Amino acid sequence: MSAPIRIGIAGVGKIARDQHVPALQHNHRFELAACASRNASLDGVKSFDSLEAMLAGAPELHAVSLCTPPQVRYQQARAAIEAGRHVFLEKPPGVTLSEVEDLARRADQANVTLFASWHAREAAGVDRARQWLEEARVQRVDVQWREDVRTWHPGQQWIWQPGGLGVFDPGINALSIMTRILPDEFFLERARLEVPENCQAPIGAELDFTDAAGTPIHADFDWRQTGPQTWQITVETDRGTLLLEDGGSRLSVDGEQLIDGEDVEYAGLYRRFAELIGADRSEVDIRPFRHVADAFMLAERIATAPFHDQD
Ligand code: NAP
Repeated sequence: MSAPIRIGIAGVGKIARDQHVPALQHNHRFELAACASRNASLDGVKSFDSLEAMLAGAPELHAVSLCTPPQVRYQQARAAIEAGRHVFLEKPPGVTLSEVEDLARRADQANVTLFASWHAREAAGVDRARQWLEEARVQRVDVQWREDVRTWHPGQQWIWQPGGLGVFDPGINALSIMTRILPDEFFLERARLEVPENCQAPIGAELDFTDAAGTPIHADFDWRQTGPQTWQITVETDRGTLLLEDGGSRLSVDGEQLIDGEDVEYAGLYRRFAELIGADRSEVDIRPFRHVADAFMLAERIATAPFHDQD
């Protein structure tokens, strides 16, 4: 058995604590050896107050996981690549398509692995949904990704700033699943973004896509849903209707449940990261991110009521 991959986490915040640290602790291929955060640290590992300090002060690291907001992803990823470390990018992989492509080129030249992760693709029902749809003719797709921003992003300012993506921060998870399971490439025809008048990013998005066959593909992303939360994708086909619920963890066809899985997303991501490092490969699929860029380019914009974290 090969030696563990020593890894450092940058940005000890919500997702690092909720998912990355437990996933790394349960994966024997990795050893969590350091962290870099301005205001936080992790017990039992070397702590630094910046990524640069971690790269310089922990030469034993083979890899870093960037769990910071996307606005600082490029500079951090570039520094880590230049320091010869493999890099795991949280989603979204950056704030522009061009900077992500630049990172992919740099990783290639430096012979390190760059992994642009899409955690929702690892949800329990996604792979089976993709396999089932390979044998089907898709007739219509409806996506409902509706959650309460105050529950899931309390106090986070970066989500409303340029590059923060607003409701596309969760919506890109739906796009990452759609681009994985739908057998044909699709593209945006029409979009409508609702942007609070005191914010730079949308709180709601209505998106109409199609594909070469003219299939209607509708997505509704909304951050104002209180009560039950909805993260579901319905695909009507000539074989029946496929339904992915709970962000992709539950799969049914014509009402018959095929998968009701537990939360396996970050375990799957780190398994994949280790495989990629072992194979000297990178994985940078920017399609979900490109659909977001297309929406920002094509959409009609509606100004809505100002957003305040406390109502
Ligand atoms: P967060 O808690 O707001 O931020 C993570 C940490 O990054 C912060 O605690 C902060 O730590 C550091 N940070 C913030 N701004 C920074 C800056 N300008 N420069 C350097 N460090 C900075 O965010 P999060 O919810 O964990 O999300 C981080 C990323 O994970 C996002 O891309 C998000 O889309 C993705 N993600 C989040 C979730 C979720 O449920 N929250 C789920 C999946 C993926 P210090 O102040 O200690 O430096």
